[in-house]
Amino acid sequence: MRGSTAKTVLIFLLLYLLAGLAFQLDKAEAGIKTLQAVVTSVSDGDTVHVKIGNKDEKVRLIGVNTPEISHPELGIKEQPFGREAAEYTKRRLLGKKIWLELDVGQRDKYGRILAYVWLSPPSSGSEKEVRAKMYNAELLLNGYAQVMTVPPNVKYSSLFVKFQQEARSKKKGLWGVAPAPIKTKVAYVGNSRTKKFHYPDCRWAKEISPANRVSFSSREQAVRAGYVPCKVCNP
Ligand SMILES: [Zn+2]
Repeated sequence: MRGSTAKTVLIFLLLYLLAGLAFQLDKAEAGIKTLQAVVTSVSDGDTVHVKIGNKDEKVRLIGVNTPEISHPELGIKEQPFGREAAEYTKRRLLGKKIWLELDVGQRDKYGRILAYVWLSPPSSGSEKEVRAKMYNAELLLNGYAQVMTVPPNVKYSSLFVKFQQEARSKKKGLWGVAPAPIKTKVAYVGNSRTKKFHYPDCRWAKEISPANRVSFSSREQAVRAGYVPCKVCNP
């Protein structure tokens, strides 16, 4: 009687351990789910076109924002480092096989897939792995992008902030670009009463009352408008 009870307990214990082990294996095998894709073209630093199977998709990288490249038709002006970021993504991703990891929100309002782009299949998603193999992280670590967190896609957002701080403190990429000097468009200043024009720093230019003050972007423009050069600053 005693022996059989012990045996039963032992069997249950064994079954319990086996079940636990099977569950662990299952978890490890599940890992991080990804979609395999091939990059067919690059729109800019953070947006690429891919083929998934034989389906064409546009992919916007999650959590990062690269500076704009110029889109005159949309009235978007080139931002510092926009061109560099786009070139970098082209160099790194064009024609390559990538693995897309999705977060909670899988598409944006433009129908683009929102994804973390892995350069080789991820296993744990640890910080070490993210640093080494995720392209979103690579953009941040090299200063090609800034963090842009859009809930609910926040799985790696705290890591991304950390990477951005690292790049910033090392003045990498866009963090090392000096702000563009503010160009004064006004090259010459005219007085509509006297019909004379001056360099903006001429003392007579400074005396012109706001009501009579006109600006010219070139000397030619002033002359064509019938203005004559000031004899003091001789523009
Ligand atoms: Zn003058």
